[in-house]
Amino acid sequence: MAKQLTPQQALENIISLSKRRGFVFQSSEIYGGLNGCWDYGPLGVELLRNIKEAWWKSMTHRDDIEGLDASILMHPRVWEASGHVQNFSDPMVDCRNCKSRFRVDNLFESISIKKKRELIKWLNGQSEKINLSAINNLIGDNAINATQIVDRMVYISALLAEKNDSTFGFDFDNFVATDDSILASLLCSPEMSCPNCGNKGTFTEPRQFNLMFKTFVGPVADDSAAVYLRPETAQGIFVNFKNVMDSSRQKPPFGIAQIGKAFRNEINTKNFLFRTREFEQMEMQFFVKPGTDEEWFERWRATRMQWFADLGMQPAKLQWHKHEKLAHYARAAYDIEYQFPFGWGEIEGVHNRTDFDLKRHEEFSGKKLEYVDTATKERYTPYVIETSAGASRSFFASLCDAYTEEEAPTAEEGKTETRTVMRFHPRLAPMKTAIFPLVNKDGMPEYARKLFADIQKHFKAFYDDSGAVGRRYRRQDEIGTPFCATIDGQTLQDNTITVRERDSMVQVRISSEKFGAYLSDKLLSD
Ligand code: ATP
Repeated sequence: MAKQLTPQQALENIISLSKRRGFVFQSSEIYGGLNGCWDYGPLGVELLRNIKEAWWKSMTHRDDIEGLDASILMHPRVWEASGHVQNFSDPMVDCRNCKSRFRVDNLFESISIKKKRELIKWLNGQSEKINLSAINNLIGDNAINATQIVDRMVYISALLAEKNDSTFGFDFDNFVATDDSILASLLCSPEMSCPNCGNKGTFTEPRQFNLMFKTFVGPVADDSAAVYLRPETAQGIFVNFKNVMDSSRQKPPFGIAQIGKAFRNEINTKNFLFRTREFEQMEMQFFVKPGTDEEWFERWRATRMQWFADLGMQPAKLQWHKHEKLAHYARAAYDIEYQFPFGWGEIEGVHNRTDFDLKRHEEFSGKKLEYVDTATKERYTPYVIETSAGASRSFFASLCDAYTEEEAPTAEEGKTETRTVMRFHPRLAPMKTAIFPLVNKDGMPEYARKLFADIQKHFKAFYDDSGAVGRRYRRQDEIGTPFCATIDGQTLQDNTITVRERDSMVQVRISSEKFGAYLSDKLLSD
């Protein structure tokens, strides 16, 4: 029976196991760490590679998707065309008193419903005496215009009036806190207190903070040499759309898939691997004829949810989140969310990006990015269905999904102990098998070593000859090794070994010669 852990305990135990067993280390730990950056240890790197491999196979082992590996540094105009130079920013506020910095939307999410009521009440009172230029200053250069803000304030006031309820019967739970301008106004209220130092009315005006990391090419560090570390892999795909289509003789509908690092100077890097400054994405852009986009969007939504389920993720911990407020380029957007110990969080976005990106790159580069049918002379700019998954977030979700503590019997009759087991899907498991000689004598180590050498040619395997076999099983359970093989006295007589399965703990005896085929069957079949 799996033990019920509090979310806090579960998260702490996962983080501690990650470090203890070599899944994830803090970046530059001996120097005190670098915030928002993590290193994947010996087991972590195997798990991450297995996730990426599963994705890569599912995307590119078909005839309508091609692979790509674009460079991280790209021409700076790419990011002007994509809108990242202008729009890829988060409004932030600083506390004048304690100097803490907060992302406006996160800050709003973190405050209580009661507090939200007070703030809206304050804002409602303000709407009578709105000073448009003050509000424009408040929300920075990137603001929606002041008239829109007034509209929204009036809208909120109307909602409040409609309820005509002194306790503000406004549906705060469903209030979508995505309107930066309103949030900014709320947070600058004298009623708002800093979660860090507790002082009221100490926030600065929100300022836009671009999330792209800037660096310089060549020896001179001036703006003419500025480039960015890519904040997403997608643009590498868009700018190569024609190269790939022409060189691979594809025509829509077809896709381009890429796995690679992305960098965002995130303000709040919390929740372990969830929001980091350096991470990996697995993105696929599918180019389709306009008019067929909605159908393809639905097909890709189904395919992507199924991918997570096929990797053994608990269906109850996966859900769709529909974006009500769409990005300027999107026609439809859904996130696949996973229920992390700290709550639901996005692991993948599926978006209908229309022809926005290709059209923008046409405009900024002056090059045509169309599909032309040579036979019919039909020409069009394809629409794009994007599936954008985080490899690092999928990794974190896999850790959380696999982590189990349960009571299991010990070698001693009638006794149990807590067994920690990572129930990874065998395809994802970082170590596929471990091979043990029962004792270190009587020819068992030699036999086990030979089997290990053979198996290792095909599967990641571990050799362990220290301690009681029960302890060795536990060590493998903790890292999720699906099958352990033991060589004992009988092996030397009849060439059979005991194979023990991680989840059921059931043991079977099979011929050692068949062990490789047994593993292939179990690990590669689905
Ligand atoms: P969020 O709202 O959580 O910041 P986003 O909507 O900005 O995410 P996208 O731009 O759609 O994310 O990126 C696609 C995927 O890339 C996300 O689903 C996520 O898995 C991953 N991702 C984005 N930002 C980060 C990050 N800072 N750390 C780790 N993974 C990330």
